[in-house]
Amino acid sequence: MVIMSESGPGSQSSPPHGRPLQVGFYEIIRTLGKGNFAVVKLARHKVTKTQVAIKIIDKTRLNSSNLEKIYREVQIMKLLNHPHIIKLYQVMETKDMLYIVTEYAKNGEMFDYLTSNGRMSEGEARKKFWQILMAVDYCHRHHIVHRDLKTENLLLDANMNIKLADFGFGNFYNSGEPLSTWCGSPPYAAPEVFEGKEYEGPQLDIWSLGVVLYVLVCGSLPFDGASLPALRQRVTEGRFRIPFFMSQDCENLIRKMLVVDPAKRITIAQIKQHRWMLADPSAPLQALSLSITDYNSNLGDYSEPVLSIMQTLGIDRQRTIESLQNSSYNHFSAIYYLLLERVKEHRSQQLSRQCGPGPRGPGAHPTRLPRR
Ligand code: AMP
Repeated sequence: MVIMSESGPGSQSSPPHGRPLQVGFYEIIRTLGKGNFAVVKLARHKVTKTQVAIKIIDKTRLNSSNLEKIYREVQIMKLLNHPHIIKLYQVMETKDMLYIVTEYAKNGEMFDYLTSNGRMSEGEARKKFWQILMAVDYCHRHHIVHRDLKTENLLLDANMNIKLADFGFGNFYNSGEPLSTWCGSPPYAAPEVFEGKEYEGPQLDIWSLGVVLYVLVCGSLPFDGASLPALRQRVTEGRFRIPFFMSQDCENLIRKMLVVDPAKRITIAQIKQHRWMLADPSAPLQALSLSITDYNSNLGDYSEPVLSIMQTLGIDRQRTIESLQNSSYNHFSAIYYLLLERVKEHRSQQLSRQCGPGPRGPGAHPTRLPRR
């Protein structure tokens, strides 16, 4: 029987020897990575036994603008519920600390995958790129721009499906109300950002998507330079090389994304209609069918089987529903989402088996990609 009364972390203590460190209902397993102000830990929920990633932020080390950024990241994540975007499960906060509990992407970063396995075949890249595109399209439809799309922020789950992560540079936008903050990583940044101009958020993401597609297919960056000014010059001129192995259709699509004038850049709707994207009908099908399993998108439409399981675990049904309706992101909603994830995972495994994993291309070789 589980009895819960609060949404705080409870303990983050070093318990008696041999037992794992705990944060709330989570047992810490190991460190996944470290950022500037945060450490990301792999942890397991004690009730559902599901693995999660917990970003632990020491608020005392942040200035007010960075803290604001973190709160905006959380605010954005609360709005996003998509199979190709890392799902937020719970937020716990004390006076000094913030714990952001999210879905765990078991196979890590696309960046590391490419570094150890080399570039992808165009067939494999197409499947991944459809999933990435669906995630970014979903964000834009919700008036959210990511502004830091790169292979380090594209994570891979246990089934090698894409999970878009890190909304640290994310922001809300309205069409016709341009943004101006410098964002992202230089090799993925659009010319208008380098030039310090005001920009339309979605067009910025499309440029970065062009760089991402190039990296998937080539295993190297389209724009690089020994120094930032050299990189800036290449980007603002839109100069990049097309390797011999890239197909004409793929080159055509990349060239339409990497257009220096943002107003002339291809749109997401047009990318979906491009010949290269449609060359394998199973690629959009897989991305789309996974998106359709994105249930719980309607408020009040909660999974009865999950609520019943929770009831048998002694978790109050009404409080769970209230927590979900109020976007409380507390222990109740976390257990609900974690159990729901298991159902989703089961369905997604079934779908992956139906669609097949996608072959690796001949000539693929380990790649040297500089981390940004
Ligand atoms: P970040 O501070 O978000 O850049 O994350 C630091 C490191 O943790 C990165 O190397 C990420 O690959 C890893 N990481 C962050 N979130 C997750 C997650 N949800 N699943 C797996 N690894 C993650």
